[in-house]
Amino acid sequence: MSKPPMGAENLMSGEASSNPRLTKRQFLRVCGTSFCMLSAASLFGLSKSHAQTATKGLIKTKLSPYFIPLNGGEIQCELCPHRCRVGKGKRGICRVRENRDGKYYSLVYGNPCAVHLDPIEKKPFFHVLPGTTSFSLATAGCNFQCKFCQNWEISQAAPEDVYSRELSPEIVVKGAKESGAHSIAYTYVEPTIFCEYMIDISLLAKKSGLLNVYHSNGFINPAPLKHLCKVLDAANIDLKGFTENFYGDVCGGHLNPVLETLKTLKQEKIHLEITNLVIPTKNDEMSFVREMCLWIKRELGADTPIHFSRFYPLYKLKTLPPTPISTLEKAQAVAHSVGLEYVYIGNVPGHEGENTFCPKCKKRIIQRTGYMVGEVDLKAGKCRYCGKPIPGIWT
Ligand code: SF4
Repeated sequence: MSKPPMGAENLMSGEASSNPRLTKRQFLRVCGTSFCMLSAASLFGLSKSHAQTATKGLIKTKLSPYFIPLNGGEIQCELCPHRCRVGKGKRGICRVRENRDGKYYSLVYGNPCAVHLDPIEKKPFFHVLPGTTSFSLATAGCNFQCKFCQNWEISQAAPEDVYSRELSPEIVVKGAKESGAHSIAYTYVEPTIFCEYMIDISLLAKKSGLLNVYHSNGFINPAPLKHLCKVLDAANIDLKGFTENFYGDVCGGHLNPVLETLKTLKQEKIHLEITNLVIPTKNDEMSFVREMCLWIKRELGADTPIHFSRFYPLYKLKTLPPTPISTLEKAQAVAHSVGLEYVYIGNVPGHEGENTFCPKCKKRIIQRTGYMVGEVDLKAGKCRYCGKPIPGIWT
């Protein structure tokens, strides 16, 4: 999951810069290193009254449709496979849903704590409108506790611990349109935990001609996922490892529900990409990488793009080294050997593995350096050289 840039609209610190709006070309040049410096007003495309100061504390709540009442005022949340049973006045594992008198409420509806304009390559999506920007947002909270989380300051926080803004779905879509973004990305933390907000924004975004893309851990129950699929255009799912042990010990989750989500997204014809963060000694055993790639090919298809991403030591795994580039290259070779067609290496700017190659004629068809996109040799979604259709959303 990408990190929100440490730039102007850093709601975690409640600060905003005064840099002028950049053209898309300037923006992409600057974002080679992931920083974007846009003022709050120009970022949101908002009037000053809308771009109000970020505040700490609960701002707004919304009744969740995803719970069932139990005896004695207890409820069971039906949003994700944790299925938290929550007593009156208590919250679920994700910290952003609360039982109030036997009803379950989202505490983060309309209250993002991170809002940024990012290159879509940062999500990462390599097969969705290359070179465009994505209006990206997150609230506090997460249903996982990954020990390697790069956004732990917001993902492992309660809503009252971070600075948030009140931004209605209408304002988000208006801001996205005026910023020049082609899509809205639900990202940085697990977006499932702000599902009601995400769906309401998505409905409006779709009407405005914006794509809805999300980067998720895939840990969501089938019913809300079906709702989401009605408005979603593309998903990048973290397949964090391929053993139940890894999911249990390192992430605080389970593998099987994630695999079911991947299969559902494929059946629902949502454009799908997968990210696997390769962590030394934790999930870098090539036999598991091979097993994972075989499963992807069998269940999702050889044309599913996969990103092997480089780990950097942080949060609770600071003592581990960064992933050796040779390990990422081994994973890439394993994926190619089982027949996956679009295999990328991430978090290594300038690596050859950032480019897209046509699986038929082997020519390079999209050139990338970091988040910057160079030559795109596609014509109507097909390889310009041999005419092979390339999966993705290209126009
Ligand atoms: S969404 Fe939150 S409250 Fe609901 S089951 Fe998942 S972790 Fe628990």
